[in-house]
Amino acid sequence: MIDLRSDTVTRPSAAMREAMVRAEVGDDVWGDDPTVKAFEQAVAERAGKAAALFLPSGTQSNLCALLTHCQRGEEVIAGQYSHIFRDEGGGAAALGSVAVQPLPHQADGSLALDALHTAVKGDDIHHARSRLLALENTYRGMVMPRDYTLAATAQAHEQGLATHLDGARLFNASVATGLSLATLCEGFDSVSLCFSKGLGAPVGSLLLGEGDFIAHARRWRKTLGGGMRQAGLLAAACHYAFEHHVDRLIDDHDNARRLAEGLAAVPGVEVRACDTNMVFVAFPQAHCQALQAHLEARGILVAVGQVTRLVTHLDVTTDAVERVVSAVSDYFSEAGSELPASTI
Ligand SMILES: *Cc1c(COP(=O)(O)O)cnc(C)c1O
Repeated sequence: MIDLRSDTVTRPSAAMREAMVRAEVGDDVWGDDPTVKAFEQAVAERAGKAAALFLPSGTQSNLCALLTHCQRGEEVIAGQYSHIFRDEGGGAAALGSVAVQPLPHQADGSLALDALHTAVKGDDIHHARSRLLALENTYRGMVMPRDYTLAATAQAHEQGLATHLDGARLFNASVATGLSLATLCEGFDSVSLCFSKGLGAPVGSLLLGEGDFIAHARRWRKTLGGGMRQAGLLAAACHYAFEHHVDRLIDDHDNARRLAEGLAAVPGVEVRACDTNMVFVAFPQAHCQALQAHLEARGILVAVGQVTRLVTHLDVTTDAVERVVSAVSDYFSEAGSELPASTI
């Protein structure tokens, strides 16, 4: 199968499984797992942060960060389509009594600096207390400009806010720009990274920050049920991904570009955007269901919708990209004259 639904669908490679089998383990809740500790330390160093905390998911990592930065009745400012606001089950509100103030995104995914400035509430008993700015990089595959993240975080700090980065795909941003992980983490008090997406580990995220912050977040992780025992088995997979699967993300970006170029040449298909490892495509509405079935019959999994997101990752080869382009092209040449040109 060629699975383009997400970069979370990767399977651990033989070498990664080998690293898991060999991992030395201990009880990480007792602070006894050497593999977890080594992994936390290695990534913290690379990111230029003092400490790190290993968590089962990016959602829990972001939630731990929010609960550590904010008290009950305080608020975090985030993009209205950010993962933290839209895709984490309202965890900050449900479990932390923390409000989210959503802001609209600009075309490049960023939040306007003047809107950010105004969104910070004054010291008035009517308002929730603004405590945290949370940004996302990459956002829908788009790399946030470094000038923007530096300006936004500096402004937030001036206004008394802390700053958090949801960097689920920050390694993609690093490879795409050639900027180091540490450079991309500058300006942020805390950063969350995922190893279970393009990097190919089965499970695992890290929260990075100052020592005190991480010590506090460690308490929240336990409260949320994220304290894992012989977690070195999983950290070994993530550490393997960290050492072997970062530089190759450039292949995913190249494949996404090939996919975008191939699909753009098919009459009836509109490529909306292509950044890092994501391609956004609009297919004629009337053909969405039939196209999805056509592709599935050829071993290609795609979640065709109003706008279809196609994601490349380490289990998608250049050959696979060509097969996908041919399959889509075949479909539309068979659909031929019935193709309604104006339904996009
Ligand atoms: C996937 C993702 C997360 C974390 O998701 P989990 O599935 O909980 O690991 C957080 N932020 C963004 C932007 C993501 O894409």
